[in-house]
Amino acid sequence: MSVTGGDDPLRVIMLGPPGAGKGTQSARIALAYGVPHIATGEIFRHNVSDGTELGQKAKSYMDDGELVPDDIVVAMIRQRLAEADVANGFVLDGFPRTVPQAQSLEELLADIDHPIEVVLRFAIDDDEVVRRISSRRTCVECGATYQAGVRPPKVDATCDRCGNEVVQRDDDTEAVVRHRLEVYHRQTEPLEFFYWQRGLLRDVEAIGTIDDVTERALKVLAEYEDPPLHEPAA
Ligand code: AMP
Repeated sequence: MSVTGGDDPLRVIMLGPPGAGKGTQSARIALAYGVPHIATGEIFRHNVSDGTELGQKAKSYMDDGELVPDDIVVAMIRQRLAEADVANGFVLDGFPRTVPQAQSLEELLADIDHPIEVVLRFAIDDDEVVRRISSRRTCVECGATYQAGVRPPKVDATCDRCGNEVVQRDDDTEAVVRHRLEVYHRQTEPLEFFYWQRGLLRDVEAIGTIDDVTERALKVLAEYEDPPLHEPAA
């Protein structure tokens, strides 16, 4: 597999709690490999702002920091993975988030003989997540993220990348973040074992600058055929 996007496709899942930097890193990895960045949270947010039926179904769960039901998410991802641009692979960001979602994905990809090749787990502790997310600001259009006070957009509340409005997401308040972390530990963390069992799990420390984390992630991807590091905590 080459970082310039050779013949080998890249099919990677980004696993980690909210605020671990998955969105930012996914965008960079997708760019490096020339594959689409598929972020289920972003797809939902676009559907909410466009007022679609899917958006209406998802909104109340999102506002409460709960997961959207598996059948809705899986139907959406099935549709997305049927599009032509995934032929050379994809970076999955925010999906799967439950074991049933991971099982559905496995079946879906087995049908087209394109299994997941690697799962990057972004490790970060809860207090750092709360600190990061409470100051996170997000572009309503392209999903680019900024940090109030630390890494703001160049022009106040305006996205550097696409010029649209930068806001605090409704679910990025401290109370909702704490709840999203609980949901993560309860419903998503079991995926670490699921993918470890399949020999796919690789660790990326999510601390340091954005460039540091990207460098670590790209290094892990370049070496992903090596054996997995260790068994995740139960
Ligand atoms: P995110 O942008 O990944 O933090 O996702 C924002 C919200 O969208 C989550 O808190 C969920 O309500 C919903 N969501 C995104 N992806 C999923 C998923 N795979 N399963 C269930 N809900 C999801």
